[in-house]
Amino acid sequence: MPVAFITHPACRLHQMGEGHPEQPARLDVIEELLHARQLHDFLRHHEAPRATFEQLARVHPRSHVEHVAAQSPAEGLARLDPDTAMCPDTLEAALRAAGANVLATDLVMGGQVRRAFCSVRPPGHHAERAQAMGFCFFNNVTVGAAHALEEHGLERVAILDFDVHLGNGTEDIFKNDRRVLICSSFQYPLYPGLNPGSVPGHIVNCALPPGAGSEAFRKAVTQHWLPALEAFAPQLVFVSAGFDGHVADELAELRLSTADYAWVTDLACGVADRHAQGRVVSTLEGGYDLPALAASAVAHIDRLMTS
Ligand SMILES: [Zn+2]
Repeated sequence: MPVAFITHPACRLHQMGEGHPEQPARLDVIEELLHARQLHDFLRHHEAPRATFEQLARVHPRSHVEHVAAQSPAEGLARLDPDTAMCPDTLEAALRAAGANVLATDLVMGGQVRRAFCSVRPPGHHAERAQAMGFCFFNNVTVGAAHALEEHGLERVAILDFDVHLGNGTEDIFKNDRRVLICSSFQYPLYPGLNPGSVPGHIVNCALPPGAGSEAFRKAVTQHWLPALEAFAPQLVFVSAGFDGHVADELAELRLSTADYAWVTDLACGVADRHAQGRVVSTLEGGYDLPALAASAVAHIDRLMTS
């Protein structure tokens, strides 16, 4: 069955100022490499719809959605926190990034595709219920997960987050919802400066020290994520796919390789194949070294297609 590739031109228009690492070229290099590897034509391409107010309000208070919309500038940049800013095109991009996860969920639940990748920005996993931060405005993956629970009636969904930063927003949003299993690996110490413990059967946090490398990452995932996932038996597997743990990425020091991202994708697909009819919805989070991002994201997409 095909794999969906969901994006929107608006996601390329969002920019946070000269030299900001979360830049439009991130999406371009992924598509360029998909073309070069001749994978682009084998994906089922979709334009992301806008998330509706109601879809966003499943995971954010209405006041947060209204606050972000109200900050949207007519020109220039509106700064929401020291490293998170809106340009006139940001609101549209953020609505499309969240909406991509809704469409991806509908496509895999409807059986049109087995897996989906949302190549979108701004990213989402730092956005808390009521706080935009860390390049994130709305929490894209949780909008998809909430849609799966509320619209499609699922009882158990997993979110796997291998971005090098803790997905504090995702954990904040689902901290009281046992229908969601969150498995996370992240470097600590590092932004956002939190190292919350695990909650058995609900949140599996694997903090890794700077310089940890492939072996430590794979060991943590195998020893901690995998048993929790097998016991939980998710009906749909979401992935917060951040590639900023790559050795070439200068925002962190986890020292992962492109092969590690292929490996963890195989693991996610294996869980989905055993418990969730193969259903995986993955969405782009971080990844700031452009060649490493392209190589890692394309390795990830390739495994979504072939695993
Ligand atoms: Zn990150």
